[in-house]
Amino acid sequence: LSDRLQNTIKKITGKGKVSEQDVKEMTREVRLALLEADVNFKVVKDLIKRIKERAIGQEVLESLTPGQQVIKVVKEELAELMGGEQSKIAVANKPPTVIMMVGLQGAGKTTTTGKLANLLRKKHNRKPMLVAADVYRPAAINQLETLGNQLDLPVFSLGTEANPVDIANQAIEKAKEEHHDYVIIDTAGRLHIDENLMGELQEIKQSVNPDEVFLVVDSMTGQDAVNVAESFDEQLDVTGVVLTKLDGDTRGGAALSIRAVTGKPIKFAGMGEKLDQLEAFHPDRMASRILGMGDVLSLIEKAETQVDEKKAKEMEEKIKSMSFTFEDFLEQMDQVKNMGPLDELINMMPGANKMKGMKNLQVDDKQLSHVEAIIQSMTKQERVEPSVINASRKKRIAKGSGTSVSQVNRLLKQFEDMKKMMKQMTSPKKGKKKGMNFP
Ligand code: GDP
Ligand code: MG
Repeated sequence: LSDRLQNTIKKITGKGKVSEQDVKEMTREVRLALLEADVNFKVVKDLIKRIKERAIGQEVLESLTPGQQVIKVVKEELAELMGGEQSKIAVANKPPTVIMMVGLQGAGKTTTTGKLANLLRKKHNRKPMLVAADVYRPAAINQLETLGNQLDLPVFSLGTEANPVDIANQAIEKAKEEHHDYVIIDTAGRLHIDENLMGELQEIKQSVNPDEVFLVVDSMTGQDAVNVAESFDEQLDVTGVVLTKLDGDTRGGAALSIRAVTGKPIKFAGMGEKLDQLEAFHPDRMASRILGMGDVLSLIEKAETQVDEKKAKEMEEKIKSMSFTFEDFLEQMDQVKNMGPLDELINMMPGANKMKGMKNLQVDDKQLSHVEAIIQSMTKQERVEPSVINASRKKRIAKGSGTSVSQVNRLLKQFEDMKKMMKQMTSPKKGKKKGMNFP
């Protein structure tokens, strides 16, 4: 999705308070990104409406982390758009279950036929048989036979002379005899949608009456994939989609639109060339991926799971061990540096960004050397009892540390805020709100 959307997401994620304006800005970006990805106009409109309703609703505004909750809503609605809960594979009342693979040449049909068989056997303990019904290229049959060898699974083939409809029917008979419970038919593809090919596929379909017709599409082809899906579905009424090469697709446009445009579920995702790289398609994971950005994703996860107990304890100890005088602060400067940016640490705590003073807590490395110099220019008394630092002392400290009075002021303010916050976090009664893991 667009960079702009990602920026908006980043901006909103950390917000302790979300305004209607924020939500509007966010949904506008989502809308543009989806339209850019060619998602149907009406689908986008409905989606945005739902996001707005939920994002401006109580669910979000009353939560501890509204910014993150808004993203969560977007994520959930995107997942819903891609089909919500992942779909299952059909099981015929009378075995074998017949699966027909269709799609353009190069989409990954043959590879996916092998992968699917592998998955069915490994994960579901099934006994699949592969069928080579792509008779136009000898190499296609060889390719499937090689896969069958690698997997140690039978491949049914009648060579290149036979009719694909006959091949499919005879394969099913054989499968019955040999008690195979799944038959996966690899069909021919063309580079483009082609009437002859469609006719042939329709014939096979009518003749064998498959339990599933899986359309294999290359996610890297983006919007073309959507168009291809639309025409295949019109002519063959597919039951599900396999998105291949998702390992190389960073945009997720195809994933979003295919479901929205065809209404057919994406059932599997190809994640690489290897035979074990086929996964059930998880709309929620895909939504996370589309929203991209590891950092945002991890924030969402944090919003969902809260910080775990152990982490919370560790952090608490770290915070507690920071003593409250500048003196100690100086001594522990290295420790502070090792902790990483203070604001980041505090941000990780659920509900933290609702606390006042967050903005003043940012301590980055560059600032740290100034901080160090300022504290070094303080007298012992000033370090322990900063309240004695009046205007003239501030001037002296600024001069001594090569900083400015406003920098000194900022540090003093930060320090006050930090102390307040630590008190809130470590005092036993406060912060008992839901989601706060601190005692
Ligand atoms: P077909 O013409 O539809 O049968 O396509 P093939 O199964 O022959 O695959 C075409 C190419 O795409 C091959 O080089 C496959 O290794 C590759 N391929 C298939 N699925 C995936 C996938 O999920 N990820 C990646 N990276 N490559 C894939
Ligand atoms: Mg093939």
